[in-house]
Amino acid sequence: MNIYDDIAYLKGVGPQRAKVLASEAGIHTFADLLDYLPFRHVDRSVMSTVATLTEESGLVVLKGLVSNMQTVATGKHRERLTVDFYDGTARLQLVWFAGTKWVRDKLKPNVEYLVIGHPTVFNGQWQISHPEIEPYSYVDEGARHPLMPVYTTTEKMKQNGLGTKAIARLTDTLISQFSIPNSQFSIPENLPQDILSHFRLMGRQQAMTAIHYPDSREQLEQARTRLKFEELFFLQLDYQYAHQQRVTRSQGRIFAHVGDHFNRFYNEKIPFPLTGAQKRVIKEIRDDMRSGRQMNRLVQGDVGSGKTLVALMCMLLALDGGSQACLMAPTEILATQHYNTFCTMLDGLGISVELLIGSLKASQKKSIKKRLAEGEIQILIGTHALIEDDVVFKDLGLVVIDEQHRFGVEQRSKLWNKSSIPPHILVMTATPIPRTLAMTLYGDLDCSVIDELPPGRRPVRTYHRTEPRRPLVFSFLKQQIDAGRQVYFVYPLVHESEKLDLRDLYAGFDMVSSYFPRPDYQVSIVHGQLTPEEKTFEMDRFKKGWTHIMVATTVIEVGVDVPNATVMVIENAERFGLSQLHQLRGRVGRGAEQSYCILMTKDNLSYTSQERIRTMCSTTDGFEIAEADLRLRGPGDIQGLQQSGTLDLRVASIVDDEPLVRATRDTVHDLLAADPTLSRYPLLRQHIANSKNKMLWGKIS
Ligand code: ADP
Ligand code: MG
Repeated sequence: MNIYDDIAYLKGVGPQRAKVLASEAGIHTFADLLDYLPFRHVDRSVMSTVATLTEESGLVVLKGLVSNMQTVATGKHRERLTVDFYDGTARLQLVWFAGTKWVRDKLKPNVEYLVIGHPTVFNGQWQISHPEIEPYSYVDEGARHPLMPVYTTTEKMKQNGLGTKAIARLTDTLISQFSIPNSQFSIPENLPQDILSHFRLMGRQQAMTAIHYPDSREQLEQARTRLKFEELFFLQLDYQYAHQQRVTRSQGRIFAHVGDHFNRFYNEKIPFPLTGAQKRVIKEIRDDMRSGRQMNRLVQGDVGSGKTLVALMCMLLALDGGSQACLMAPTEILATQHYNTFCTMLDGLGISVELLIGSLKASQKKSIKKRLAEGEIQILIGTHALIEDDVVFKDLGLVVIDEQHRFGVEQRSKLWNKSSIPPHILVMTATPIPRTLAMTLYGDLDCSVIDELPPGRRPVRTYHRTEPRRPLVFSFLKQQIDAGRQVYFVYPLVHESEKLDLRDLYAGFDMVSSYFPRPDYQVSIVHGQLTPEEKTFEMDRFKKGWTHIMVATTVIEVGVDVPNATVMVIENAERFGLSQLHQLRGRVGRGAEQSYCILMTKDNLSYTSQERIRTMCSTTDGFEIAEADLRLRGPGDIQGLQQSGTLDLRVASIVDDEPLVRATRDTVHDLLAADPTLSRYPLLRQHIANSKNKMLWGKIS
């Protein structure tokens, strides 16, 4: 018997249940069942009573009898089931809205049940909807286990006799079968012994036993710590090993010399002195580009910190080495804007820059592609269009990806393959990444930070206002506009339907226009439904100062640069995420004048909305905002992480386990430094050999 045997062979499973376990819970083998962790343990010693429930009780465990089952039809195929529950102290009602048939068939009078759930008061009576309920005998059966595991189960599992009780029986059986240490009937260790002893971690066998059937809460905690460590450790190992492989193995183009392109730009064209941070980051990039290794670098810098200029100068280094460079942006607006910036900055230097976006005519695209393949075009700027297979470079030396969070890993990997020696990659993001995330998610990238804004910038002042104060807000805007400034109004995209969003936007446009009537005031409107020409036209009018107000959806989120715009009004600000608010706010405060951001919200805000608004009003530091975002939303919702799929951690939490993230990162780092081939760690070598991520990371890093 082996830990990877088919789960069907476990006593009490069989082929039918094995099928259900596989389809409902992804459990195929014994090992998968072990990994099916309980989400909670029931402690019989802390049983509550109905009579002593309070609003603050939270999750409770009760023991008692059921009676008086009633169903009420609530729709065509829907019904509500209510059951009285009495524990000898008082009554409470149990309620189900789904799966009622199954509950009705199962519950019997005169049987003691254990009920777990969140009691709430409804019509003056205590009730628990959708409680977990099991015959009390279940707990008695497990009397040798002081804490009983509770597992997630689906309706279908329950219908097949695989409720939480049944799963607990299976894990119990399994664990007792695999409880002979160091035999084939044991749960194999996967962490090196020296690491276990250094961190005083439980062995895997003991941890897997204790995570299901702990002797005490304390032991459960130790088991969790061990499993979290293991999870984070292997994540780090995957990333850092991939990084090390790239550094030691992969060949990179060598751009050793600073030549004419760079020097002429630096001496003749550069419009302002670089900030210290810009200089430092350019130097870091330059060192990478002449190292002979392929660069994979993430540049983080707050909105307005001058990343574009850094990118431009690095592209000139590639041109000096005789190569081409490209810049990929997430939207056509942003790509066009970069293109215009580049044309202006490079004017007179004889460098050929082109823009490739989806909306070009087929003939234009064709000509660009031809000249690109022949090496005539030196710098290509564009959107996703750049990664299409028929975009062929003669000699691509450097790829810059702007606002990285919109690009998935796979899209990046396509660029990697556009050249026989992989091009250097520079990823720029204006959404700062919290430290813990950077450590885990970007363990494979080197990181530079532009942590200084160009001189003369004044932090944007941010205020929170609700509807009753709108007239005051408008009169403030009037002052600003009359003093020659410009204003943005941003509306969120909130509805499933674009039509409804547009309706909101146009309603906003009408309101703003009636307050700021023509001909004295001009109002622009931009949204995703306009054609690229229309968008460009409207953006241009605003940029040139012909219109005073720009009403827009979040299409202006990234990259719009109008230094004369000093006020950003964000409507329904409670509907935006923190990083988006921060991005939007970055559209103002680009010139020398004091700028303002006004967050308009409704009156009653949820706790997290309040916290978001409070954070925005109290800081302009992108890193602080990113940390708050992570705390408030959890990593699953952080922009760009969903598609990356790399952070579906089972036990550890990026938010709560920062010390463990650090410890594992440092441990893996030291270990690889001392033993790059892992010669002393057969277990880890084996992990690398089996790693799921191997293909993916091997390709892009
Ligand atoms: P981001 O990092 O948000 O992409 P940009 O590159 O768009 O920032 O730069 C924001 C603005 O600051 C631009 O108008 C740019 O010309 C200007 N800028 C960049 N570097 C400097 C500098 N060293 N000194 C003054 N202004 C600068
Ligand atoms: Mg930018």
